[in-house]
Amino acid sequence: MVKRVGVIGSGFSGLAAAAYLAKEGCEVTVFEKNDTLGGRARKFEADGFTFDMGPSWYWMPEIFELFFSLFGKKPGDYYTLVRLDPSYEVVFGKNDVVSLPADYQSLRELFESLEKGSADKLDIFLADAEYKYRVGMDEFVWKPGHSILEFADFRVFQSLFKLQMLSSISSQIDNLFQNEKLRNILKFPVLFLGATPENTPALYSLMNYADLKLGTWYPMGGMYKVIDGFVEVARQQGVKFMTSAEVREIKVQNNLAQSVVTGEGEYSFDYIVASGDYHHVDQHLLPAGYRNYSTKYWSERTMAPSSLLFYLGLNTKLQGVQHHNLFFDRDFAVHANDIYTNPKWPEEPLFYMCVPSVTDPEVAPTGNENIFLLMPLAPGVEDNENLRDVYFNKMCARVKEIMNIDLRDNIVFKRSYCVKDFVKDYNAFKGNAYGLANTLKQTAFLKPKLRNKKLTNLYYTGQLTTPGPGVPPSIISGLVAAKEIIKTIKY
Ligand SMILES: Cc1cc2nc3c(=O)[nH]c(=O)nc-3n(C[C@H](O)[C@H](O)[C@H](O)COP(=O)(O)OP(=O)(O)OC[C@H]3O[C@@H](n4cnc5c(N)ncnc54)[C@H](O)[C@@H]3O)c2cc1C
Repeated sequence: MVKRVGVIGSGFSGLAAAAYLAKEGCEVTVFEKNDTLGGRARKFEADGFTFDMGPSWYWMPEIFELFFSLFGKKPGDYYTLVRLDPSYEVVFGKNDVVSLPADYQSLRELFESLEKGSADKLDIFLADAEYKYRVGMDEFVWKPGHSILEFADFRVFQSLFKLQMLSSISSQIDNLFQNEKLRNILKFPVLFLGATPENTPALYSLMNYADLKLGTWYPMGGMYKVIDGFVEVARQQGVKFMTSAEVREIKVQNNLAQSVVTGEGEYSFDYIVASGDYHHVDQHLLPAGYRNYSTKYWSERTMAPSSLLFYLGLNTKLQGVQHHNLFFDRDFAVHANDIYTNPKWPEEPLFYMCVPSVTDPEVAPTGNENIFLLMPLAPGVEDNENLRDVYFNKMCARVKEIMNIDLRDNIVFKRSYCVKDFVKDYNAFKGNAYGLANTLKQTAFLKPKLRNKKLTNLYYTGQLTTPGPGVPPSIISGLVAAKEIIKTIKY
């Protein structure tokens, strides 16, 4: 009997799960509340510009290769990847900018120039990070996290110590490197995981390996080309997509998730994969007796930050900017305090400026620049036009102060996006951008469970469950959820 599977949400996790389940013989329908596919990785087009709405860093190319290889394909069948060099630039102040070269020997020289003896330490740090990457990505991230027993295997247990699951990445870096700039550069990648380096296990120096050894890549045409590739693969496997189809309820019968209800009708399934934000599905789509967690549980979770974003079209080309520019010219600890400890709009924010048109002529009209400003923000804070404007001006003033460029002089397109939009567009708990933070207490089997505890045919996937936030983990999450379902069908 062909099993019918309903997937709620078309982000990377939903697409990965849908494609895999269809390949294994299931009849799969994806319900997406928005009118376009891709979730947080959607795009929009305006006045000749193409804006990726979410992810802009393409890291861990192996995970994308792995996904496509499951279907006999490769990334190159769908998009052209280029490795960025420099990978990115970190702005510490006026005339104080560090460019991270793609070439490892040049990177060693850069480290040595900032701190004598640090190149050798970098070798040691990255050898350890590579070990963590291999064990982490080959083993840990593929565990569904149902129970701690999955980690009881001696080899894995032994590696728990070597992987430094229980100490923080911040102390590991501070113990090795004295130079503040090097410390900040090495702590930056874990910000993708939504928590501070102090609260992130040292296991995640695997992100440094991904950053400094595997490289920063870019799919020409924009990150959305990757979504296009995933959708094409899914369609080839027979997946059906319904857009503008918000699921309003999951109906339950005989301890099974029976059907999903949209504005158009009710659709019955043998299995349901919930890839919309976990909190939303758990608290708003399920009847009270079938929720995995209480409101108290959710209120105690550390969510990853939300963001204030600006998508800008400029009718000029900028001098001296890179594709990825990190403005680390203020104290990170102060901004982190405003996100995690005393949630409020930050006094002195760090922010990120992405200029994909530096690499890619397709994303802006000739002679124009495509810009994306991102400022991490505490989830759940007040959001209004006035606040957005204040921070737009703050970011522009900083770019002007440091780069001598006033972005405001040449704007031909401007759109902002913030907490309220994350809630409205994605049903995001507190307007989070990146899901649940990967803190020491919210890692692996300590994350919200992939499986509903009472409804044996309901699975959750995406950036709020295992293995965590980010595009590669979301792809893995979708595949893990799909494989768990296939196990119950086949064995
Ligand atoms: C601004 C921003 C920048 C980022 N930058 C990077 C980066 O550079 N690199 C990186 O690796 N990661 C980045 N990330 C994180 C990455 O984009 C996410 O971790 C990943 O895309 C999440 O995929 P997902 O499938 O879990 O969730 P989503 O992409 O959110 O997909 C969930 C989908 O479910 C839909 N949905 C919700 N409720 C319902 C419902 N009731 N009915 C139907 N559909 C529903 C939503 O509309 C959405 O389409 C970024 C995220 C943001 C927001």
